Amino acid sequence: MKRKLLLGALAAALALGAVTWPPEWSRPFAAHRVIGNVYYVGTYDLACFLIVTPQGDILINTGLPDSAPMIRRSMADLGFKLEDVRWLLTTQAHFDHAAGMAEVKRLSGARVLASQGDAVLLEDGGKSDYHFGPDYYYAPVKVDQRIGDGEKLRLGGVELTAYLHPGHTQGSMSYGLTVKEGGKEYRVLIANMGSINPGVKLVGNTRYPGIAEDYARTFERQKALACDIFLSSHASQYGMHRKYTPGAAYDPERFVDPAGYRRAVEAAESAYRRQLAEERAGKR
Ligand SMILES: [Zn+2]
Repeated sequence: MKRKLLLGALAAALALGAVTWPPEWSRPFAAHRVIGNVYYVGTYDLACFLIVTPQGDILINTGLPDSAPMIRRSMADLGFKLEDVRWLLTTQAHFDHAAGMAEVKRLSGARVLASQGDAVLLEDGGKSDYHFGPDYYYAPVKVDQRIGDGEKLRLGGVELTAYLHPGHTQGSMSYGLTVKEGGKEYRVLIANMGSINPGVKLVGNTRYPGIAEDYARTFERQKALACDIFLSSHASQYGMHRKYTPGAAYDPERFVDPAGYRRAVEAAESAYRRQLAEERAGKR
């Protein structure tokens, strides 16, 4: 998330029109098939991914507080039902990806699975976030299961690997799965990029003492992680609008972009190194 939002007074503020966010966060966007059983059900920029299985569906990220009707509509457009969501996951427990989770959980009855770090935020609505807490928060949601780094999550023939990629939040996670399509295997990665929110300190951060080391390790691990299909928490981070125009026919090759993934990781790492050097030199 980028902008300062007074989420504590969200309902009242919304009524007064006082809370704003970038319009592309809430602008509706065409639900579409990414590859195989992986679908996009997010907004113009806030990515929500649906993984469909015969034993229920997995929804990764839920977007803003009022996103449930939008997700329901996007799923219906693709022929799926919100009530069939069985697991809810998030790439990072910031409000632009997790504020809708409590409502989606209530409507679907799905179980929430999260890393220990993000579970803390989900359960206190982000109040303990090292940067945005306690002023900016969202509806808390009970986490049903803690998941660890490298853990394999199996549902309906899908094996999803969870990767702990901390920094952006202390419990940020990426998810990988292999999809077979047209006789080929595609390694799909929903990567939480190591971007740094404005105002976050890497040096002397008393609320997150290991932040610089966590980011560094995340970049190393992401560089060692190969993928064919690159997806991320924000559509802009994986160039979705360059790759897909609403109405375009399904093409399993559409989002194949291993080089784009490497470039995105390298760009985030460069920004991190630049900021670290500037902070150490006392320039910021
Ligand atoms: Zn964020």
